[in-house]
Amino acid sequence: MIAKRIIKDVDAFAEELLRKWEEQQNRIPRQAKTDLERANRRYAELDKKISGLYEDFTAGLLPERQYKSLMFKYDQEQRDLEKRIAVLEEQTENVKTQNIQPDRFIELIRKYKDVEELTRPMVRELVEKVVVYPPEGHKPNRTQKVEIYFNFIGQYELAYTQEELEEIRMREEEENKKREAHAEEIRQKSYLHQKEKRERARAERLALNDGHPYPKKTCPICGKEFWPNLPYKIYCGEVCHKKANNEQTRLKRRKDPPPDQTCIICGRLFRPINQQQLLCSDACKHEHRKIKKREYYHRDQRLKKEAVAKEMEAAHVSAQTDP
Ligand SMILES: [Zn+2]
Ligand SMILES: [Zn+2]
Repeated sequence: MIAKRIIKDVDAFAEELLRKWEEQQNRIPRQAKTDLERANRRYAELDKKISGLYEDFTAGLLPERQYKSLMFKYDQEQRDLEKRIAVLEEQTENVKTQNIQPDRFIELIRKYKDVEELTRPMVRELVEKVVVYPPEGHKPNRTQKVEIYFNFIGQYELAYTQEELEEIRMREEEENKKREAHAEEIRQKSYLHQKEKRERARAERLALNDGHPYPKKTCPICGKEFWPNLPYKIYCGEVCHKKANNEQTRLKRRKDPPPDQTCIICGRLFRPINQQQLLCSDACKHEHRKIKKREYYHRDQRLKKEAVAKEMEAAHVSAQTDP
């Protein structure tokens, strides 16, 4: 992608490249050059001082002890400077001899100016190596550092442009969509497969059971044979089902009877059918109904009286306030 961009706009790239190269060329070596100049100057100064010192000494202007001490100091400094100069010279020399030739590189990419697509030999000719770093940050501000080491010019850093990031994003989205579509297809296939299996099993069952979905059963209550419409059906119909239920409750009650109950009318202890039963006999039930009826009647009478009293009071109030 980056190489494509380079090829698309060779002139802009060449310009950018030259600028960056010069920047790099000037940064470190410039410091080395000034340091080297300064060191050389100091070295010459020391030379002069040493010869002056010697003259003074031979003229008898400087005692021997002082001459020797100063001489030792200057000599030491010169020796240090010699080492430093050697290092600095090597640094500046190195830059000059480094295999950086932007002109040659630009010439090379101009050769490919009209090429639409990058070919393997082209890449081999242009690029020494590419270092791709892991992506940083999160979408949509994700960036990925890519270092390209070109032939003739060394490392050249290019960050993805907004356009390229967009392209990456679109490609990822497309891949996601494809993956999802594939998963959906598999789901659909599996669903159809299961459905087919179920239908085949049902057809087999129908064939086995004379066109009925489940095998013939015998009702345990009436002893009649029947075709169940559901696999867990036990009885031939509602009547036998109810009979079976009643039988079950009867058995349960015999095994685990509810405790004796005191009748709320006559106060006698009796054995109830269920725990909700409060009355011992039909006579007590009748009596109970009568009492309730009486209670309702008296309540009704009371409510009627209260309503009449309220009405009269309201009439009285309105008569007082109206002139
Ligand atoms: Zn039955
Ligand atoms: Zn009773």
